[in-house]
Amino acid sequence: MIAIARSAVKSSASVIDKVRTPPTGVTILIYHRVGAGSGGEMDLPPEAFDIQLQWLNEQRQVITLDDAVDLVTGNTDRQVTGREVALTFDDGTEDWVDNVLPALERHHTPAAFYVATSFISQSSAAAPALSWSGLGELASSNLVTIGSHTHGHMLLDRLDADRTAQELDRSIDLLEEHTGSTPQHFAYPKAVLGSPAAEAAVRSRFRSAVIAGTRPNPLGTDPFRLHRSPIQASDDQRWFQKKAAGGMRAEDDLRRTANRLRYRGLES
Ligand SMILES: [Zn+2]
Repeated sequence: MIAIARSAVKSSASVIDKVRTPPTGVTILIYHRVGAGSGGEMDLPPEAFDIQLQWLNEQRQVITLDDAVDLVTGNTDRQVTGREVALTFDDGTEDWVDNVLPALERHHTPAAFYVATSFISQSSAAAPALSWSGLGELASSNLVTIGSHTHGHMLLDRLDADRTAQELDRSIDLLEEHTGSTPQHFAYPKAVLGSPAAEAAVRSRFRSAVIAGTRPNPLGTDPFRLHRSPIQASDDQRWFQKKAAGGMRAEDDLRRTANRLRYRGLES
């Protein structure tokens, strides 16, 4: 029943795209896990991820997150063509080293990883955690950009300015200590923006920040409100290709309405 509802939402979103054509921009995809065996929507089978990487390299242009920021802010001589895609991963699980990095290396494809530093070495029921040495291995690849996802995966709209600053600085310090470089990019946990003060704290510490939204980022997009499109296990190749082309925004609009109710009263 849930699968049928999901597929109906995807079909409707695809029809809405035909009426409301997505703008030409850089598309940023969100992944979480690959082959972690959790059976969740944000845990892709390794074969599916492999096929996606192959398709992206044939049909699109996969760029680094830094290049994506340069393109949308006009900080480059190059123009946005609409073919550019950046890959991002959230949270911090062992499969990043076991499955994701080898796949990226096979396809010579760059990706960014937003780490919630409290998750490191703290395995959850959903998936074994990334270790500090795993993070170091990931960070040493020239295909990889490491970003911050707060320390405790905190929803910033529930924290005051001091707690927000602590959350950001703790994660920055730990990432510096274990990767040898300062993270330049930030992902809001669950795509929840904070208060204006929290957002100012993010803007003063990073080069960019990402939310959700499932739509492309045209030239002139605020680099601290970059939209991303989540790739789910239920996205077959057809839905994946539509998302990689910046489509399927209506699916996100519906999910956001549902999440607003779900996250009421939660902290992280
Ligand atoms: Zn997260």
